[in-house]
Amino acid sequence: MDQSGKVWLAGAGPGDAGLLTVKTRELIESSDVIVYDALISAEILSLIPPGKEVINVGKRSGHHLMMQQEINEILLREAQKGKNVLRLKGGDPFVFGRGGEELELLVRHHIPFEIVPGITSASAVPAYAGIPVTHRDHASSFHVVTGHPRQDGTETLDYDSLVNVEGTLVFLMGLTSMERILNGLIEAGLDPDTPAAVLEKGTLAAQRRVVSAAGRLAEDAGRAGIGTPAVILVGKVCALSEQFCWAEERPLGGRQILITRPRMSSSALAGKLRSLGAQVIELPAISTRSISPNFALQRAMKQFGDRAGEEWLLFTSPAGVRIFFEQLAEFKMDVRHIFGRSARVKIAAIGSATEKALRGYGLLADVVPDVYCAAGLGEAVAACAQPRARITAVRAMSGSEELLPPLLEAGLKVDDIPLYETVYETHEQVKEKIQSLFEEGGIDAVTFTSASTVKGFVQTMEQLDFQSIHAFCIGAQTAEEAAKFGMHISTAKEASMDSMTEQILEELGRHGR
Ligand code: SAH
Repeated sequence: MDQSGKVWLAGAGPGDAGLLTVKTRELIESSDVIVYDALISAEILSLIPPGKEVINVGKRSGHHLMMQQEINEILLREAQKGKNVLRLKGGDPFVFGRGGEELELLVRHHIPFEIVPGITSASAVPAYAGIPVTHRDHASSFHVVTGHPRQDGTETLDYDSLVNVEGTLVFLMGLTSMERILNGLIEAGLDPDTPAAVLEKGTLAAQRRVVSAAGRLAEDAGRAGIGTPAVILVGKVCALSEQFCWAEERPLGGRQILITRPRMSSSALAGKLRSLGAQVIELPAISTRSISPNFALQRAMKQFGDRAGEEWLLFTSPAGVRIFFEQLAEFKMDVRHIFGRSARVKIAAIGSATEKALRGYGLLADVVPDVYCAAGLGEAVAACAQPRARITAVRAMSGSEELLPPLLEAGLKVDDIPLYETVYETHEQVKEKIQSLFEEGGIDAVTFTSASTVKGFVQTMEQLDFQSIHAFCIGAQTAEEAAKFGMHISTAKEASMDSMTEQILEELGRHGR
């Protein structure tokens, strides 16, 4: 069938988005449709570009999980439509992932496919608990075993062999059968004092571990209320956890933070928080849609700089800077058209991220206000501009009204040119997942870098109890917007990502706990 698309059967790893392979990360961007399971974390789902088609096959409908047969048929149907299908599975698709079954139907219909191995929970979850599955002194092999009983309830495991190999035993899908498994091993001769562990939600901020001994693990795990997904580990290496545990020790280890950012801006804040150990969900509360072709900008820029006085260009976001130059290029204008004329051209940026974006185009801002907000920008420019200067603000359509009054009051001529529209979009499925994380108390904080990110968030997550949210805001105007919804608010000391990060560390970091 020459019209057919192709299927990539890919592993997403155990949950931490940093454990996605480069290949899977690229497929998340490039595929036409993503078919994913319940185990895919909110952090990973939040990387899916808005507008991409997604199918959640891990969802319970009534009491039943979607049958394997149905999933196989969905993959076939989508590929037959000519689509590039990313089948995204937890861990590695060929390690208890039923990857083989999903291929059979495709092979029968000659649908081309590729397998993209993933990082399996069998070794990564222990690693995030500080447990090496092999160790020269303690274990020379490890064995990955399903703990799932046969459908008819009969025993599947050969306990004698499992005990005799003397390697580390890793049980997946074993939580409900834990007692049966451990008893089976002990009856087959395993010393009940052998170190053993159960590791819940490994690699995620919510990860927990109970390290104990084979004879006591089931009881200890029950007391700790360990839930799924969880890996059970039996072997001497478990005792190393105390010495080698590291994930929770990071400054923001154990924290999950939702950041609301314009989709197209670089995620500087996400990177900083991740490097400190936090798990970060990026909610594209707002994304930008360029106005193209932008005739208003073309007109304004044809005149800009022709007059003898002083002319100002005002930028209010990094996305605005990028879009401004893109739109100029559409009209075959470059910087010489703007700066090569008679006027004295001055440039103002609302904050440090915008200033940095301008630097990328070889422009150093003349003015950056001390306070990151539209009114602050207006006031700073009004204070520096010559009496009859002309101001051209290039920014979002329906941007903050507070920019203009200080400029107009100073008697300046202002041209307000919209470059882009702000649109709110988030996948319904991602929303649901995030919603339930909030309800479980799994999200420690939400960051806001503008009043419009607050508006976008509230609009997107309308079902939430906003009063239980801890909001970290970049400045006073943003905080004011968040306060309207009763959020608990912390404001950064300065209007920068570094200052926001510091504030989060101060309040949520390990040393403050
Ligand atoms: N293909 C997957 C395994 C799928 S079977 C892989 O390679 O990891 C599902 C089982 O994997 C769960 O029952 C649990 O035992 C384990 N698992 C997956 N993700 C996990 C996580 N983040 N923490 C703990 N166990 C996990």
